[in-house]
This record gives sequence, structure tokens and C-alpha cells, in this order.
Amino acid sequence: MLYTSTRNKNIKVSAAQAIAQGISEEGGLFVPCELPQFTLDKIGTMVDMTYIQRAKTVLKEFLTDFTDEELDYCVNGAYAADKFSSKKIAPVVNVNGNENILELWHGPTCAFKDMALQLLPYLMTVSAKKTADGKTIVILVATSGDTGKAALEGFKDVENTKILVFYPVDGVSPMQKLQMTTQEGENVAVCAINGNFDDAQSSVKSIFTNDEIKAQLAKKNMMFSSANSINWGRLVPQIVYYFSAYADLVEQGKITLGDEINVVVPTGNFGNILAGYYAKKMGLPIKKLVCASNSNNILTDFLKSGEYDKNRQFYTTTSPSMDILISSNLERLLYHMSGEDDTLVVDLMNKLSTDGRYVITEELMHSIQAVFDAGFCDEKSVFDTIHKYEKEYNYLCDTHTAVAVKVYENYVAETGDDIPTVVDSTASPYKFSKSVLCAVNSDDNCTLDEFDTVDELNRVTGADVPAPLKALKNKQVRFTDVCDKENMSEMVFKLLEL
Ligand SMILES: *Cc1c(COP(=O)(O)O)cnc(C)c1O
Repeated sequence: MLYTSTRNKNIKVSAAQAIAQGISEEGGLFVPCELPQFTLDKIGTMVDMTYIQRAKTVLKEFLTDFTDEELDYCVNGAYAADKFSSKKIAPVVNVNGNENILELWHGPTCAFKDMALQLLPYLMTVSAKKTADGKTIVILVATSGDTGKAALEGFKDVENTKILVFYPVDGVSPMQKLQMTTQEGENVAVCAINGNFDDAQSSVKSIFTNDEIKAQLAKKNMMFSSANSINWGRLVPQIVYYFSAYADLVEQGKITLGDEINVVVPTGNFGNILAGYYAKKMGLPIKKLVCASNSNNILTDFLKSGEYDKNRQFYTTTSPSMDILISSNLERLLYHMSGEDDTLVVDLMNKLSTDGRYVITEELMHSIQAVFDAGFCDEKSVFDTIHKYEKEYNYLCDTHTAVAVKVYENYVAETGDDIPTVVDSTASPYKFSKSVLCAVNSDDNCTLDEFDTVDELNRVTGADVPAPLKALKNKQVRFTDVCDKENMSEMVFKLLEL
């Protein structure tokens, strides 16, 4: 299986090259040249498998330059039983009727990013051995909160790697901040920036493609790579859990093999939902992918109108991992849906960076709408939804999951389409304890400190507190640097001691 770039179809690289490099030279994103096809029979064989076996079944088709031994090493290491608090790794919980919640947050940092970022360091080091022998890989991360911690935890003390994480100083929850600033490991660094996630992401992208910086790194036998979902190695592990959730629904008798399901995804950078799109294209019976946004509803507008316009107000919400106006992975969708038109993608992405907006043709929009639906949820509805689900179904959602749950309710009300559905749950409620507690108690003046809030939420709801979050209370803060977005490249030099 070979990979090409969304901005230049002539490029052909192996999986290992795509993963080690992170982003294509001309700024495009790597995508598979063709997708493997899974028959219903093959999907049926996954019903009796463990998560690890399901992961190997899917990944084998994409990482054809990895040996069986290498793949075993990667997958067994990533999803080891002591790293996830659920034996199922990504359990499916029936909440109400046809609504099933896929819990993707049982990993070490309590957010769905672990599903990919526990595996990525393994894929990256194996890939680097194949394609960049002896080089130290420098992972640069821009985070809206969860990626940073999950990447730090995945890469900490991994040989021949260093990791630098930038987060918006006022854009993450207190728990997310503490998770990052207390990070252990000899090869890690964390820095806050004065700006929002899009500022951090744009600066990281320009550092990646800056020839002068790359040359400096090369002198030290280092190379950049990315752990953001622009890296193919971040996306491919996410395809697995859509197959896994489907197999679980068959196993639970909620559906019969071959039945269609809908999937609802709380969306930011468009990585998670894009993985669902790939699963559908590979033959998984998914009818609609519903893209759920918070008040930053640029994707809702795009999927309804065909116009992507980031010239709008940016809101800091209680679901910070979705506070994004430039959803990088949309580029991959545009590439596939336009019949692999790399010229069009270059044109649209140029328009986005010069004018902050682009419009797609009606024809392209209709083909996207045949697969995707979209909706958004404001802050009040997030709170009301958390409250309602706790009281009515005894199910505690975090703020991001609540966005998806509410958008799903609206989708069913508007369309009447209530076939069995998987709603992705992307974070533990305890990562956003203050908002969740306020919502549960219908109290908008919660004044407890972070850890007292956790205890109170536990007392009120009885939901288990994840051990890694409990442990933070006694950890030392190691990283206190703050820099302006203009100075990020200098910070990189400083942190790498160049
Ligand atoms: C990253 C994240 C999202 C958004 O996922 P994308 O793949 O960027 O669309 C949603 N919820 C949580 C909790 C996240 O950490």
C-alpha cells in the first residue's frame, strides 16, 4: 500500500515514510492511494476478537511495509492491559434505545487521543528505523488540550525521540494544564503560548516547513515529525475502533451483521470523524456520519452550505478540544470526495490561507452531504444535556460528549432517522470536572478547587475517578514557560539546545 499527498498526486511513499515524515514536503497531507476493502464475512470474524486482534486485522492492510513481528510489537505494546482501565479498551455502552456510546477515554490520559497516541510512538520508531536510520525524531505538537498530554505520555522516554508541546495559555482546562505541566520524562518539554489553538497550529506548521530550521536540525542528526492528526499514524489507529464498535454491537445483539448504523462524532480537527469515513469506504455499514460542533460551528456551516469561512468570532467554550476554526483533516476529505483532485485542493488551501475562506462546487457539496450530516450545540445545551443524561439515564458525559449527544438528539428529531447509532465519547467527565459538576447540580457558581471538585463530582454521581487524574494531586509542576506565538521558533531552538 502506498500513500500520496493531497497537494501532489505524483508523490508516492510507503507507510513508514508517511509516518516518519508526518507531513508532505509541499505542505500536503498523506493519504492512502487506495483503501483496503472489508467484506461482511471479514467484519463478522472480528466479532469474537479482542481489541488487539481487531487492531491487527485492520492495521495489517494499511502498514504493508511492517512485518508481522513489528506489528505485533507495536499493537501489543500500545494496548497493553495495564495501560487501559477497561478490558475492552474501547467499550460500547447502551444508554437509551438505539443510542450507544463508544467510550474512547479509558487510556492513561483519559481522552480519546490515547487510542492513537499510545500506538503512534511505536509506529514512529519502527518507521524511523526503516527510513531515517539513526536520526532523533523531534515531535512538535500544537494542542487544544488533550493531544499534548496524550502525546507526552506516549513519547516520554521513548528512545531517539524528543517531544515539545505548545498549548494556548487560556485555552485548556485546569486539569488538562496540570496534566501537561507535571509531565515526567527526560525527553519532554511544554510551553504555553499567548494565542489560541489555531495560532499554535499555524506556527507549528510553519516551523515544520522552515528550511533554515530543518537544516539546523539536520546538523544535529535530528528531524521533525508530527503527532497531530495531520500525521497518518494518528489517523490509522482510529479506524480500528469503528470496526470494533460495530463488532461489539453485533456481539451484544443490538444489530445483525450487515445492518447499517449511524455514527456521531464531537469534532474539532476532523480527524476522528474522518477515520469513520475511511471505515465506511472500507465497507463498514455506516449510513451517516454526523459531525457535531460546539459554538465554533464552522464545520456545521460548511457541511450545510459548502462555504468554509474562518473570518468569524472565535469562542472559548467548555469543550476546548473542539475550539478550532481550521480543521486540518478536512483537506483529506476534499481530496477524496473531489475524485482526488490535488489541483483543486491546492487552490482551496491557498484561498483559505490568503482569504480565510473558500467555496466548493454544488456538485462536490452534494456528494459530501450524501455521507455527512452536521449540527452544533451551544453552551447552555451542553449543560442541560449533561444534567439530563445524569438524571434520566444515570450516564455521566463530559462536555465534548455532551455536544455529540445533543446534536444526535436534534438529528433524530429533524430526520426521524433513529437506526442504531454509535455516539463517540471522547473524554472522561473528570477531565472537565468543574463544568460537569455545575451542570449536574444546575449551579453556575461552582467555586471549589479542582481536586475538591473531583471529589464532589464523585460524591454526587458515584462515577469512578480515573486513577491517573487522582495521582496528579501530588505531582510537581515542571514547566512554567510562556511565549508569544511569534517567538515559538526561538523557543524550539532553546528547548532543543540548538
Ligand atoms: C481532540 C478531541 C476532539 C476532537 O477530535 P478531532 O479528531 O480533532 O475532530 C473531541 N473531543 C475531545 C475530548 C478531544 O480531545
